[in-house]
Amino acid sequence: MEQELKICHLYPDVLNLYGDGGNILCMKRRLLWRGVGAEVTKLPIGASGSLAPYDLVFIGGGQDFEQQVLLEDLHRGRDREIRAAIEDGVVFLTICGGYQMMGHWYETYDGKRCDFIGAIDLTTVGGKKRMIGNYKFACTPSAGGSTVVGFENHSGRTYLGAGLEPLGKVLAGFGNNGEDGTEGAHYKNLFGTYSHGPMLPKNPAFCDMLLAAALERKYGRCELAPLDDAAEQAAHDEISARI
Ligand code: GLN
Repeated sequence: MEQELKICHLYPDVLNLYGDGGNILCMKRRLLWRGVGAEVTKLPIGASGSLAPYDLVFIGGGQDFEQQVLLEDLHRGRDREIRAAIEDGVVFLTICGGYQMMGHWYETYDGKRCDFIGAIDLTTVGGKKRMIGNYKFACTPSAGGSTVVGFENHSGRTYLGAGLEPLGKVLAGFGNNGEDGTEGAHYKNLFGTYSHGPMLPKNPAFCDMLLAAALERKYGRCELAPLDDAAEQAAHDEISARI
C-alpha cells in the first residue's frame, strides 16, 4: 500500500473501558477500505518502545484505581514523550481517564491527588455524583464541526484553562463538568473527550477527521475516498434521536 498510518494503543492493559479499543478497529477498517495501511502497536505499562514512530496515538479510559496504577510508568519518561509528540502534531484521541491524564492533575473524590502530564491546561476534580448516560455534543468548527453521540461515565469534573479550546458544546448530557456546557478539549491534533466505548463507528465524520489530520501531517495531502456510511449514519441518527 502506498500510504500507511502507524497507530499506537497506549496503556491498553489499564486504560480500555467499555470497549474503548474498538475505536482502533474502526480507524483501521476505515483506512483499509480506502487502501491505506494501518499498523497497530500496543504499548502497555513497562513497554520500552518510544512514541517516535507513531502517527496516531489512542488512549482509552480507566477508573481512578487504574489511573493511579500507571502513574509511576507515566513519570518515568512517557510524560515527556507524550508532550513532545503532541507538540509535534501527532494525532491523539484520548478518552475519559486518558483525557484527564493529558491535564495537570486529578483529585479524586476521596482526596487522592494524581499528578498528570500537563500537556494541556486543564484540571479535574472528582465529585460525589457520577455523570453517567448517553450524551451528544457539537464539535467546534476547528474539530470538524460534526455532531458526536456517545456514552459518558465519570465522577471527574474537568475545567479548561482560559486559552484551551473545548472539543465541542454539549447538546445533551454533562460533558466536561455538567456546568459550563463544554465537552472535551482540542489542542493542535490532540482531541480529548468523555465519550466512552467504541465512539468512532457511530460517528464516522469524527473518525475521518482524525484520519485526515494524521494523513495530512504525514504526507502533506489527504485523499480520503468517500465511503458508504448509510449503516453508520443510521446508528448515529437512531441514538441521537433517543438522547
Ligand atoms: N476515573 C475517572 C472519573 O471517574 C475516569 C473514569 C473513566 O475513564 N470512565 O472521572
